[in-house]
This record gives sequence, C-alpha cells and structure tokens, in this order.
Amino acid sequence: MRPVIGVTRCSRIDDYVESVVRAGGEPLLLEPTDDPSASLDRIDGLLLTGGADVDPAEYGEPPHPSVEIDAARDAFEIPLTRGAMAREMPLLAICRGVQVLNVAAGGTLVQDIPTAITSDLNHSVEVPKDAVAHSVDIVPGSRLAGCVSGTTPQSCAVNSRHHQSVGVVGAPFVVSAVSPDGVIEAIEQPDVPFCLGVQWHPENFWRTGEFAPLFASFIDAARRRRHQR
Ligand code: MN
Repeated sequence: MRPVIGVTRCSRIDDYVESVVRAGGEPLLLEPTDDPSASLDRIDGLLLTGGADVDPAEYGEPPHPSVEIDAARDAFEIPLTRGAMAREMPLLAICRGVQVLNVAAGGTLVQDIPTAITSDLNHSVEVPKDAVAHSVDIVPGSRLAGCVSGTTPQSCAVNSRHHQSVGVVGAPFVVSAVSPDGVIEAIEQPDVPFCLGVQWHPENFWRTGEFAPLFASFIDAARRRRHQR
C-alpha cells in the first residue's frame, strides 16, 4: 500500500501531486473546509503547499502593506500543522508551507524581503517556474544535506517565488539552508522522523529530478509510519 499524503489545496497543485506520485505516495487533497484532526487521521504524511501570506496577527505583528492573506487556509493549516507535529507525522513544507510551519511552532516571518533587507538576489522569479533564481548553502550534517546531491560544503541552485521568509526560527527547528544574502531558505526539526520546510519550489523539478531525493526521503518516512500503524 502506498502511504497516503495529505496535500493542502492551492492554486497550482499539479506539480505537488506529480512529485508525490513519482516518489511513491498516494495524494489526498485537503480542503480548508476540512476538519484538521479528522484529516490527520486519514493520512501518513503531510505536504504543506505554496500560496498567500500567513496573517501576521498569528505571530503578533501588524501587517506590512504588501501582505496578502488567506484567512481560510490559515484557519485550517495552522492547527493541521500543530497536530501533525504533535503526532510526529512526516511533514514536508514548501514556500508558504515553511512559513505556516514556522508560525505554527511559535516563530515569526520576514514580512517583505525587498523592504526588510538589502540584497543583490531576486527571490521573485515567476517564470519559468523551474528557473534558477539563486543558490542556497546547505548546513552540513542536516537532514536536508542528505537529501541533495553534491559535495560538502553543499551549495544548491534553486527557483524562488517568495517575498517573505522565516524570521525568528521556531524553537523546535534548526536552520538547514540559507541563501547568500542571509535569507533563511530551509528549516528542519532534528529529533523526529521527518519534518522539513524549504522556501523554494522543489515540486517544479519533477521532470528533471533535481529534488527527487527530497520527496523520496519524505515519502519513505510516511511509508514507515504507515507500516507502524
Ligand atoms: Mn529565495
């Protein structure tokens, strides 16, 4: 039996679904109107997808003028994420997903990178969706380092479609990738089977497979969980 992977509904979901299927998972789309706890009962792993900004009220800040929120997704995905973490369910979080993950665990976000930091990098390269925007430096010895190819110290080329990023890192996490301008590009929880979030979009590379090992590690963890339940 394939492990069932809950995939949060978003506007560009096809590549997430394709990446899960190719890694051996069975996608189950989760709607913002679903019950978080009941959703977790049906799945072996959780994939948090991209989308709008998390409401800054969730981390106690007034909104920057550039912020566009999706209140329905926040209301579903934040308790969903907390529940998945409490169950130590394998969790992969992408773009908005890593922001939801960090906020759900008590962290904050950089609300608007262009006005918050001085950078030579462009974090908003919209097309093509697998265009390389910048590199990231991956922390040696991290789980993420074991999910990408290359030598140590590892640098990895990524796409980038975000104007926010992880700010204060939530207590459960460590930083596992940073871009050369200092923007946090990945976090992970060290002491659980699999809990990792990336700011770029690895799902857009399923045709060429650059991040297939990342999805494989996630799905493998979900498969082990399925066998244990
Ligand atoms: Mn970026």
